[in-house]
Amino acid sequence: MRTVHVPLGNRSYDIKIAPGLIDRLGRECARLKLGPRCAIITDTNVGKRYAKAVFNSLATAGFSPALIIVQPGEAAKSLKTVQACYNQLAVHRLERKSFIVALGGGVVGDLAGFVAATYLRGLAFVQVPTTLLAQVDSSVGGKVGVNLKAGKNLVGAFYQPRLVACDLDTLKTLPDREFRAGLAEVIKYGIIYDAKLFTLIERDLLKLLKRDPKMLAAVVARCCEIKAEVVGRDETDGGPRAILNFGHTVGHAIENISGYGRFLHGEAIAIGQIAAAKLSHAVLGLPERDVARIENLFRRAGLPTTVKLRAGQRPKLFAAMRLDKKVSGGEIKFVLAKRIGRVVWGQRGPENQIHQVLDY
Ligand code: ADP
Ligand code: ZN
Repeated sequence: MRTVHVPLGNRSYDIKIAPGLIDRLGRECARLKLGPRCAIITDTNVGKRYAKAVFNSLATAGFSPALIIVQPGEAAKSLKTVQACYNQLAVHRLERKSFIVALGGGVVGDLAGFVAATYLRGLAFVQVPTTLLAQVDSSVGGKVGVNLKAGKNLVGAFYQPRLVACDLDTLKTLPDREFRAGLAEVIKYGIIYDAKLFTLIERDLLKLLKRDPKMLAAVVARCCEIKAEVVGRDETDGGPRAILNFGHTVGHAIENISGYGRFLHGEAIAIGQIAAAKLSHAVLGLPERDVARIENLFRRAGLPTTVKLRAGQRPKLFAAMRLDKKVSGGEIKFVLAKRIGRVVWGQRGPENQIHQVLDY
């Protein structure tokens, strides 16, 4: 088993990474000194595969779990679902010492984390991420929340889990498209922080695509380490945590204007990262060769590299970019790469250059 520590003072916690971890989840939770009652929040897809094992593991360790199942998909990240969860927690009589287990992908993690942050002014919560994206990104760092009609993640909190348990075996049942989308965040860590990781992925991409257990363990652990380091330096954003948004200014705008459905998050940020790499070449002199390596790796990972937009949609893309959280003083700010493994944040991107790199 690999353990990555997230250093956040009295909110510190461990990320544990191993195959078969669900079977040991009860024992891991027992070490946290939590109350006996807990609720597992999951969706129907993940629940039918893993809820029983999680339930049994917790029950065997002496806990009495309740099971709350929500619909899969982004639509479940709503205040309506939050309210339904609160009602179930009340029915099952969860108390201040009780805890919540989020079993699923990013949607379940964000939703269940928000429920945990707010029910009884905060219950402990444990993340059991079951998608690659959730294991390397959304389950670590404490951002929880739900969507409004007006936009994604508009209601939320910084609320750290007490434990993140990444069971690598759960990735075996993840649909191929979801797995590849998660790889977009994995590749991102190479670009923003670790040239060696980038080279490793380039070299062993086929192993990774085959979900080779050793490769997965090494890669998930390294990504969690990087995220832990970045979050440890800047828990609540506004500073160096911004580097995690490499490719996300364009990526979020693509998701936004294509109606959250055409592209998975990972697919949109693959396109966004290629655009950011090209912009890095224009603004910071990132070598052409590195731009080509980045573009090639996303292509080989089976991710989209460009977005075809009609001329009429282009202003919409820019409007969506200006709505992004990283805009300040009306100017769109980017995370740009100096070289693979080293990025800088808060960079200006002149509009004509953005048009050029988007390669519609
Ligand atoms: P993300 O982690 O990418 O934000 P979601 O939480 O929306 O994604 O999960 C993506 C989809 O994959 C959902 O339909 C979810 O039910 C399903 N899913 C999550 N984990 C697994 C798994 N381990 N095996 C099979 N399907 C899964
Ligand atoms: Zn992302």
